[in-house]
Amino acid sequence: MKTNRTFTMIKPDAVENGYIGAILAKINEAGFKIVALKMTQMSKRDAQLFYAVHAQRPFFSSLVDFMVSGPIVAAILEKENAVEDFRKLIGATNPADAEDGTIRKLFAASIQNNAIHGSDSDENAMIESYFHFATREMF
Ligand code: ATP
Ligand code: MG
Repeated sequence: MKTNRTFTMIKPDAVENGYIGAILAKINEAGFKIVALKMTQMSKRDAQLFYAVHAQRPFFSSLVDFMVSGPIVAAILEKENAVEDFRKLIGATNPADAEDGTIRKLFAASIQNNAIHGSDSDENAMIESYFHFATREMF
């Protein structure tokens, strides 16, 4: 996969609250091109694998329960410097600390229910993209 790409999920809280369209518009306005997109629901095993790096953290089982609680929207986004620029666009993990205008400031309710995921490295962007999409679903 190209390295000018990142992976994102609109999390169950933001889907439930009706923010899919508004968040995708923000993503497009910020100059990202959507090159893969799907609405799906993670299984418990999916969520445990996806967030395996946090398995020892006290919030892990609550995070897994949250991530499987409803559908998500997964997407692959293309832009120069995609990973870093997208982390800036979504804002801090805790929406209380997120800068004005960021997606989490606008649409997130709490540190756990924080509306959106963004990959933290080119390597993880690739791993996470192939976790959710087949090659034929990436454009
Ligand atoms: P993401 O990986 O989803 O983009 P992030 O990189 O900003 O978020 P991480 O540290 O990777 O933050 O945490 C993964 C997710 O776990 C967070 O987005 C949030 O949903 C949840 N989380 C993180 N810290 C806490 C916490 N202290 N309490 C509850 N949930 C948390
Ligand atoms: Mg993370």
